[in-house]
Amino acid sequence: MFTFESILELSDAIRQRKVMAVHVVRECLDRIDRLNPALNAFHEVTADLAMKAARRIDLRASAGEDPGQLAGVPIAVKDNIVTEFGHTTCGSRILENYRSPFSATAIRRLINAGAIIVGKTNCDEFAMGSSTENCAYGPVRNPWDVTRVPGGSSGGSAAAVAAGMCPLALGSETGGSVRQPASMCGVVGVKPSYGRVSRYGLVAFGSSLDQIGPLARTVADAAAILSAIAGIDRHDSTSSDAAVPDYLERLDEPVGDLRIGVPRQYCSDRNDSEVNDAVQNAIELFKDLGATIIDVDLPLTNYGIATYYVIAPAEASSNLARYDGIRYGRRADLGEGEDVFDLYAKSRAEGFGPEVQRRIMLGTYVLSAGYYDAYYKRALQARRLIKQEFDAAFARCHALLGPTSPTPAFPLGSKPDPLSMYLSDIYTVNTNIAGICGISIPCGFAIKDRKRLPIGLHLQCRAFDELTMFRVARMFERGAELNFQLPELELTR
Ligand code: GLN
Repeated sequence: MFTFESILELSDAIRQRKVMAVHVVRECLDRIDRLNPALNAFHEVTADLAMKAARRIDLRASAGEDPGQLAGVPIAVKDNIVTEFGHTTCGSRILENYRSPFSATAIRRLINAGAIIVGKTNCDEFAMGSSTENCAYGPVRNPWDVTRVPGGSSGGSAAAVAAGMCPLALGSETGGSVRQPASMCGVVGVKPSYGRVSRYGLVAFGSSLDQIGPLARTVADAAAILSAIAGIDRHDSTSSDAAVPDYLERLDEPVGDLRIGVPRQYCSDRNDSEVNDAVQNAIELFKDLGATIIDVDLPLTNYGIATYYVIAPAEASSNLARYDGIRYGRRADLGEGEDVFDLYAKSRAEGFGPEVQRRIMLGTYVLSAGYYDAYYKRALQARRLIKQEFDAAFARCHALLGPTSPTPAFPLGSKPDPLSMYLSDIYTVNTNIAGICGISIPCGFAIKDRKRLPIGLHLQCRAFDELTMFRVARMFERGAELNFQLPELELTR
């Protein structure tokens, strides 16, 4: 399977019956069996269903039918995107045995295109985190160095693609959860513009920020998946009716007179020096490719984390109120004389981990009478200003460039303080706050403890201009010709 350049080549081979989908899926499942004990990327592998789906694809191909553009392509799904098969836990105890009665729109679209879901990947509980250590089912490990985190919260999806357990995965973004793990695992990760992809079936965290996004080995593969899942959906009134271009078809068209903005706040000396070096090399490469590099000032970059940590918890505290011990998931046992309020409190205390409890408390606090104006309302005002700052920047350039994360993957357990963890999203949260699109592409390596650790290049473009974003990312990918194939893994702890 991994001898194919792209997933579309793979699916073409399956459609033309040069390769059997069952063999492709079997290869994936074998690799998952072999590597998952060390990485913990998957929470659940839906092997039987995947094999059944593969057989159906092969049958359809041999009957002369077209099983779809993504025929037989295996894909992993972050466990906060609901599937009507298997479980959907959101990395939480509170949903330990939860089974969804329906599948997310993005999942249905992938399956209709012939893709094969191989399982659900571990994530930070309700997607709250940047390291996948806040997972009730154990941390995920980085395939480049198993003593380090894969990033988060879509760490399981990023590790699965990086380790070659499957060529593609879906993750979700509220403030960087696809791009940041993609950067730490050396894969491509996309945060689509708000409204580009239906949120129907994505378990809500911060509803005004959330988007589903693809993780892949190449820009072309990510573009193919976005084309498949994007577009209006009657189940999500925030999904946009803007036309979805064929991203893949137009990927190699040149961007005329390309102008790339480099915000000076992104190249901070607080970044790891190897990260800054890799970003500098990327800038030089773009210059060689004929792009004009312009200096941009985004002073509100540093207000992103403060703004995000008011808005996201506020929305989360409202969204998570539905886990009351009655309607979904875990229900606590009640003692003599205890009432329904005890049931709520006990179920939540048992079911939610510490980070989720912290966010609920933060969120209810900033929304409470007396503090609403001081925190929540001001955060919304800051959000408007951040959006305007991006608008002004995009009047001068096609894309903004910087590092995805200030550091490469950090060691497990090395950020016990929530604030230091929050800071690893400093370059990604504003994309979500402004509703624009962003991509992380591998751009180099840092050497730590004699291990190579991937570094991600971050590109942001204006809302609904994913096409330009993919084209610029593709230019870089072609020009850089870096090899992010993992050496055969030595995955012993
Ligand atoms: N790390 C950020 C948080 O903890 C972003 C998470 C996300 O994008 N889902 O909220």
